[in-house]
This record gives sequence, C-alpha cells and structure tokens, in this order.
Amino acid sequence: MNDPKLTKREFMKTAVVLGGVGATTSAVDAKGTDSAASAAGRAAGEVLMEPAFESASNHGFTSDVIHLGEETGFSVTPIYQAKNVRGIYQRPSLNPTVDALEVKIRSLEGGEAATSAPCGMSIITQMLLTFLSAGDRIIVHRCVYDNTMNLLESYLPRFGIDVQFVDMHDPANMRAALKPHKTNLVFFEPYVNPTCEILDAPAIIKTAKDAGALCVVDNTWLSPYLFQPLRLGADLVLHSATKYLGGHGNAMGGVISGSKDRIGKIETTIGVMGGILRPFDAFQLTQGVKTLQLRMERHTASALKVAQFLESHPRVARVRYGGLPSWDRGGIGARYLRGFGGMIGVEWKDAGAHATFGNRLKLCKPWVSLGDVVTLVSKRDPVPKRAIPERYTRISVGLEDVDDIISDFHQALA
Ligand code: PLP
Repeated sequence: MNDPKLTKREFMKTAVVLGGVGATTSAVDAKGTDSAASAAGRAAGEVLMEPAFESASNHGFTSDVIHLGEETGFSVTPIYQAKNVRGIYQRPSLNPTVDALEVKIRSLEGGEAATSAPCGMSIITQMLLTFLSAGDRIIVHRCVYDNTMNLLESYLPRFGIDVQFVDMHDPANMRAALKPHKTNLVFFEPYVNPTCEILDAPAIIKTAKDAGALCVVDNTWLSPYLFQPLRLGADLVLHSATKYLGGHGNAMGGVISGSKDRIGKIETTIGVMGGILRPFDAFQLTQGVKTLQLRMERHTASALKVAQFLESHPRVARVRYGGLPSWDRGGIGARYLRGFGGMIGVEWKDAGAHATFGNRLKLCKPWVSLGDVVTLVSKRDPVPKRAIPERYTRISVGLEDVDDIISDFHQALA
C-alpha cells in the first residue's frame, strides 16, 4: 500500500512490530551455520547465495514473517469480513486482514509497499494494464507460466502492445532485442515454469535497467525465502500466493511488491478493474506465509532427494533441478539463490513412462498446481518455441515424508 495506508494503519491503531533499524546481516553468517547450503542440497562450504535475507528489523526471516503486520492484541489478525471497516470502503485492499498479508510480503521482499489481488493472474494482468499502453513494447523470456503466455500472446497485442519473446539464457539476446526499439517493460520468471530453466536474474535485471525498462519478476517458484529480486534492482516482484506463499492448497491470491509510487499506481488500476483479494483468502494465505521458511527448506531438501532418485532411474533421460550438478544453474544467477526449492522437471526415455507415471501414483497426485504440501505431478505436451521438451513431466515435491514420495514414484515406474 502507499502512503494513505500508513495513515489508515494509524487510524486502525494497529502496530507493526519493528526492532532496531539498520542491521543487514547474512543469515548464514548470523547463524554461524551453513544450514541454508544443506537445505539447498549443496556440499558444505559451497556457498552459492551471496546476499542473504535483509530485514528492516534486527530479526530473522521467520520472526519477521510471524510478527509483522498483525493487529495488536490478537494472536492472528481477525477476518474483517465487511464492506466498510471502521467506515473505510474496501476497495482496493483497505482491509486489515489483507493488510497483514501485504505488510509481511513487502517486508520479506524488501519493498516499500505491496498490494494484492484474488489470484496470480489477476495481479499480473492488473500490473500490465497499469504500466503498458498502445504502442509500448514488452520483452519476455520465451517461456513463462501458461496463462501468462496466453495473456501476452493473445490479449496484449489486441491492445496495440508489441510483445517480444527472447531466450534470456544469454543476456546478449536481450541486449539485441532491447537495442532497436524503446522497451517499456521486461518480465521473466527466474526459475521458469515449466521448463525449470534457471535464468541469470542479476544480469537480466541489470540489462533491463540499463535500457530504461521497468523490470518485473514473477518469483512464484522460489518465494522471497530463496530469492529477493528487489534487492538486486528489480522494480516489482510478484507472486501467485496460491502456491508457495500460502502453501496449503486452501486459498488463492496474488501479491506484488515494489516502490510506494508504483504500488499506488497498481492500486488505482485495481480500484477500477475490481480485482481485490478477499479477506478470507488473505487470512488463509497469511497463516501459510508464517511457515514459509520451514516449508521451503523441507521442499528444497526433499526435492534434491527425489531428483537424485529420478536421475538414477533407468526410465529417466534427464532431470532438471538446480540442486543437481548435472543441471544448468544459470551461471551467476544461482549465486543469488538461497536454494532451488521444490520444482523438478523430468524428461522420460520412453513414451510409456510419460503416459502412465501420473495415473499410477497412489500417494502423490497427478494434478495441475504447485507449491502445495501435497506432491503434484503434471504431464506436459512438447512446445518447441517455449523449449518444453518431449516426454516431459513437471513435479512439485510436497511435504510428505520423502521416503514415501520416492517409494510411490518407484512403484509407479515399475
Ligand atoms: N505465475 C506462475 C509462475 C505460476 O506458476 C502461476 C500458476 O501456476 C501463476 C503465475 C498464476 O497464478 P494463479 O493460479 O494464482 O492465478
């Protein structure tokens, strides 16, 4: 939220729990351990992550996420399920329940402000409508989430917006695309859905900024626990909160964080378009966010074990997971990640494994979605222009006992 929100917060007599300002210590240094490295499946001493979580308080990531934004005197901010709350009309998200979520996210991302929408696609759409007009140009990595792809390919051109897809693996491709025309916006996912490519996010952000474009990162697959692109100079970072932020498959939402000025502009669009996050979903998502660190560490540790099992399986041609030395870690891009999270891609040797794997599972589910406590497996068709390979399956490793996930996969592939 922008400035008026601070006024609103005073009016609501809510409290933000803030410690001393100014400390920016490395989580690894501060804790004196390499727990992040082991959670990421890295050899001890192999520190890929350079910048760690930076807090506006003296607290660590989880202390901040638990305490920030909650209403004073309540164990959790209640659900304000009312059109007017203390006289304020609920559009856009001028609601203390929604506010609690937004305060936590902006603080974790290192943004001045945050706002929200009823799902990830809603925040992406409303963000693009805020910053793009007829005649503008947007550059996007050749592959992003399916519906984002559809929005960019089929909808934006109808409004006179020039959408260019490039392979951002090599920032030189981007520089070439940026050169001939003025580009207004650059959009990418640092860990790409569904191809599991890890892009060199710091280089892409720098190239976009040098060209004077607004740089927007969809950080859904990593979460602010693993990666904080605003701290590398990105202008806006957004999430489908439906996935890792909420984490329990029980609510949908979208959040975006950045400067007060830009978030204020998006909120004006939200006021017009009406895509506001509902308090009940915000409440559910907020409870999920409080355990983000614990869940991301477990997702990351389990994903590595599952990836190693799959890599050794005779029916698997290739496993795409950043924790595996065999998979491209995106050059220096990966040095800015605390870990690689829970998403794995599998290329099967035989069409039979591709066809039957999901339906033979007994514990895990062959369902679309990701970032859930449940392990979800999604069979994909090849799309050459998006570099989605043949016989490909995307796996979101959940929080079940990892031995159970592996034995379910083992029996499904027997
Ligand atoms: N961005 C990414 C990377 C996603 O994976 C998804 C959904 O899977 C979305 C955006 C859209 O989120 P939602 O389903 O909440 O609209």
